[in-house]
Amino acid sequence: MNSARRPLIAGNWKMNVGGPEAMPLAAGVARAAKEFSRVEVVVAPPYTALAAAAHELAEAKSEVGLAAQNMHPEVSGAFTGEISAGMLRDSGASWVIVGHSERRQLFGETDEMVTRKVAAAIAAEIRPIACVGETLEEREAGQTLAVVERQVRAFLDELAKAPGFGVVAYEPVWAIGTGKVASPADAQEVHAMIRGLLARASIGLASATRVLYGGSVKADNAVGLLEQADIDGALVGGASLDAAGFRKIIEAAH
Ligand code: PGA
Repeated sequence: MNSARRPLIAGNWKMNVGGPEAMPLAAGVARAAKEFSRVEVVVAPPYTALAAAAHELAEAKSEVGLAAQNMHPEVSGAFTGEISAGMLRDSGASWVIVGHSERRQLFGETDEMVTRKVAAAIAAEIRPIACVGETLEEREAGQTLAVVERQVRAFLDELAKAPGFGVVAYEPVWAIGTGKVASPADAQEVHAMIRGLLARASIGLASATRVLYGGSVKADNAVGLLEQADIDGALVGGASLDAAGFRKIIEAAH
């Protein structure tokens, strides 16, 4: 971490905790976040729990940010089943995860779609957490840096329009939900490359943008990752579903 950037810990609940159980989890995260105020904390419940989580966070007078896990880039129209940035805002979200590898792999999201979503989110004043990361096959073929560079370049110009507003998350696909975490040195190598790309757009963009690591982050591996110069926080899946475990990751970033 670098003291110039506020650490950010985001919890991606994925397709879990979409009903009333979102409320106690949001309340537990709100309590944890109050203990470690240097750390910015965001939670991303399913769409169906956004409004309830927003209500819970407001009741707790919490600064925990609320994220959606996806959005559609158009403002409105005939897109059955989709949700726009404006609708996220109306539900109480001020963040959105875009281009998660599960969206890219299972729902066919391309770099071009991810870029449109980043642009639409920024235009609607919703802060994008844009995800990138290589598959195991790509890593074994020595293509990690090239793949991640291509993915970041796709939305770089959009991020550069509002330096520091958007966030990048490096999540190696082989590390997501597998218990296999990237070593701090391997993660740092990719983060440094991403920082370099941001710097090519502008020095201001590079110094203001938080670059998160994601993929099997747990309380016991968070410290080593967060010690790295270009890792500014974490995007946490499984370990964000338990407030006590998530609290320990927030503590590690403090
Ligand atoms: P994980 O998920 O922490 O369960 O590996 C991370 C993510 O997909 O954002």
